[in-house]
Amino acid sequence: MSHNEPSIFTKIINREIPADIVYEDEVAIAFFTIEPVNPGHTLVVPKAPSVNILDIEPSVLSHLMHVAQNVARALIETSLGSGVNIHINNCADAGQEVFHTHIHVIPRLPSDEAFKPPRHTTLTTEDRLQIAAKLRNHLDPTT
Ligand code: 5GP
Repeated sequence: MSHNEPSIFTKIINREIPADIVYEDEVAIAFFTIEPVNPGHTLVVPKAPSVNILDIEPSVLSHLMHVAQNVARALIETSLGSGVNIHINNCADAGQEVFHTHIHVIPRLPSDEAFKPPRHTTLTTEDRLQIAAKLRNHLDPTT
């Protein structure tokens, strides 16, 4: 799909396809994924389309995180989870499949397998210093 076509999430926002919507305001919507890790696995999505964290407007991202916190607290309070993972996949190489920004809010239970992050890599001190210098030169100091 081209990134300019309405995403599947825009179709959910516009009620063109159904979803289990649990929260909605002027800026954001939250609904269950069709592929939950556990019951209650929720996606928090901006109504204004953006592809991912690289192009989303910072105030909208901030609002989405606030909604994700609200969902996380509700998952704990309803005992759907005794822990919560929050993550965003950004770009295909990071596992993004729907190119409309979304935060996964995933309830976790004692019976779950431990969350498995990608394997660790090993760096020399020289590598680390070079990489840190490169990144510092690209970071916006006014964030
Ligand atoms: P990503 O891999 O891009 O981070 O995650 C995409 C998420 O969207 C997955 O959890 C996937 O199950 C969910 N998803 C894809 N299509 C639909 C759909 O039509 N409806 C809903 N509710 N979730 C969807």
